[in-house]
Amino acid sequence: NHQIQLAARPVGEPKPSDFRLVETEAPTPGPGQVLLKTLWLSLDPYMRGRMSDAKSYAKSLEPGDVIVGGTVNEVVASNNPKFAAGDVVLGYEGWQSYSLSDGTGLRKLDPARAPIQTALGVLGMPGMTAYTGLLNIGQPKAGETVVVAAASGAVGSIVGQIARIKGARAVGIAGGADKCRYIVDELGFDAAVDHRDPDLRRKLAEACPDGIDVYFENVGGAVWDAVFPRLNNFARIPLCGLIAHYNDTETPKGPDRLPGFMRQALTKRLALRGFIVSDFASDGPAFERDVSQWIREGKIKHREDIVEGLDKAPEAFIGLLKGANLGKLLVKVA
Ligand code: NDP
Repeated sequence: NHQIQLAARPVGEPKPSDFRLVETEAPTPGPGQVLLKTLWLSLDPYMRGRMSDAKSYAKSLEPGDVIVGGTVNEVVASNNPKFAAGDVVLGYEGWQSYSLSDGTGLRKLDPARAPIQTALGVLGMPGMTAYTGLLNIGQPKAGETVVVAAASGAVGSIVGQIARIKGARAVGIAGGADKCRYIVDELGFDAAVDHRDPDLRRKLAEACPDGIDVYFENVGGAVWDAVFPRLNNFARIPLCGLIAHYNDTETPKGPDRLPGFMRQALTKRLALRGFIVSDFASDGPAFERDVSQWIREGKIKHREDIVEGLDKAPEAFIGLLKGANLGKLLVKVA
């Protein structure tokens, strides 16, 4: 059995030495337990937050802990009447090849319904984040302009496509020409802007001639600075993530821009609301129904960036925080 543990809390960008690959005895299931083999591990930006000791909505990892993460597992042995060997389940078993569970939180997947790893991506937590954040907070209307950051990624790619389904114009901000081409040519966004372009502000203004009605924030930093002046009156801002800041080690030095921000928020009557995907858990059935249907109709496309082998997880995770992935980042563990 292989586990990847947190060796040390990263300071700034995580380094390979912050992770430790450990070999342990294969676990044996006790009464009521199932033995799970990890087939797929999801790598997600929130894991960076768990590695830090800053107070957040979820408990931090301690050095020595197995790193947390969503997984798709196969039941290899079961002492639990609810599960049988061969079942495929969605779990939260983390960065390890085998684990034990009493069944709490496991959800059986039907491999005939959709490829099993989509339960970690378009039909799972990231897809649900896009759907609930955009529809509950963004509330895009036909003809409006929706801008999304990290637009080629697991969440952003779905946000833009749902915006178009709702009749809005979708503009994506992504890093580099390949990602920008991908979101326009393959996902059907109306326009794309490269956040590494030194002319980002002007390019964004050109891509949004009528201003921005909904900004789905995944990034913060320079991208937020470019978007903020273009927001229209009554713009809605689902605040989903701030990945540009996850490796920050200190607060940036002044000038203090808070008064300017507050003035604009007031005069433009902006509605900014932070959310965690679980806030909208009751939307689960509607999400599954709608997104499954949109995939069948070809209105939603998605892409997986697959890394082979658990030992590759640290490097792939380090890359995720700086844009090395194109699409939903997954580790094929077995
Ligand atoms: P992605 O698949 O989009 O991968 C992360 C992407 O972030 C990178 O590929 C990179 O894309 C972009 N990025 C990284 N650093 C920067 C930067 N400095 N400036 C601009 N872009 C940057 O990840 P997810 O779709 O899984 O997550 C997207 C966001 O959603 C994250 O902020 C995440 O924390 C958040 N999230 C929030 C949830 C919630 O419940 N609130 C749930 C799930 C995700 P590029 O190359 O285009 O720069």
